[in-house]
Amino acid sequence: MATLTGQNHNTATFKDDAISLVFPAHQDDVAEARRVLTQSLQTSLDLSIVLTLFFQQIQKLMPATGMKYQHRQKDCELMIGQDDTHKVDYRLNFAQDDLGDLTFSRNKRFNEHEMSAIESLLSTLICPLRNALLYRDAVQSALRDPLTQVGNRVALDQALERELQLASRHQQPLSLLAIDIDHFKMINDQYGHTCGDEVIREIAQSIKSITRCTDLVFRYGGEEFVVLLNKTAIDGAHVIAERIRQHVASMQILSQGQTLSATVSIGISSLNLKKPEEPLFQQADKALYQAKHLGRNRVESARP
Ligand code: GH3
Ligand code: MG
Ligand code: MG
Repeated sequence: MATLTGQNHNTATFKDDAISLVFPAHQDDVAEARRVLTQSLQTSLDLSIVLTLFFQQIQKLMPATGMKYQHRQKDCELMIGQDDTHKVDYRLNFAQDDLGDLTFSRNKRFNEHEMSAIESLLSTLICPLRNALLYRDAVQSALRDPLTQVGNRVALDQALERELQLASRHQQPLSLLAIDIDHFKMINDQYGHTCGDEVIREIAQSIKSITRCTDLVFRYGGEEFVVLLNKTAIDGAHVIAERIRQHVASMQILSQGQTLSATVSIGISSLNLKKPEEPLFQQADKALYQAKHLGRNRVESARP
């Protein structure tokens, strides 16, 4: 039998000690909210929908301005509504599983009746939340490259479509880097496939650390990566590409007792909202080909 071990830490810094008596949740209202919630939470496996439905029921029982969900291990953070000064935190567990932390906030202290109503509703949330987290894991692993833990090609296709739409809707720049490891076949031939894998992994890590936006780095193919740089025009993209190139060239990769080094060539393209041309990826790929042609270990931009 699974148990909910919700813990309550009231972390508010109170301006006064007056316990708010607004909106005291009636037992019947809580029971009705639980009934509605039990039904509505069955309708989705999407984490943000599950949490939004939950918060809507909480708001029917008491005034609350915001709810923050955090799962550090899963690198997941969601804010629904607005944060405020007074908070109440719950750590959620299902048997041995850590299901994250929920923080409710508003401009007045939460009273005991309200906290007990929250706890009652939390027991309804726990199983749907666990299912939503499992579903999120499954979706993420379908979109992630197992060797490097960056996005795979399916994830790239989805992200590119989304970023193109956002860039056009908000009239913001968008750039794309196509990165390819130089003479990678030689690395494989000379040091073996396992060392080759290690080089791919290390270079992916270094691209991730430089771009600082894990979600927009993708392994496109064997030793090829794509980075999407939203809100970044060609000049900014060039700076980042050059930083990646230099960083990779300076790396000493230790694998199976050997020290390896590698270089990358990078092609850049940028969205031209006024004059849409050939697709971003093809432009960057052509620029990458140019970088290879001009001697490798260099950055080239797509020319109009
Ligand atoms: P260039 O500088 O022109 O890019 O030369 P290259 O040798 O890197 O180019 P090419 O695309 O011909 O070679 C890529 C090699 O990458 C061929 C393939 O065996 C190897 N490869 C593809 N996927 C993997 C992988 O997952 N692990 C390892 N170790 N090697 C891989
Ligand atoms: Mg290649
Ligand atoms: Mg290559």
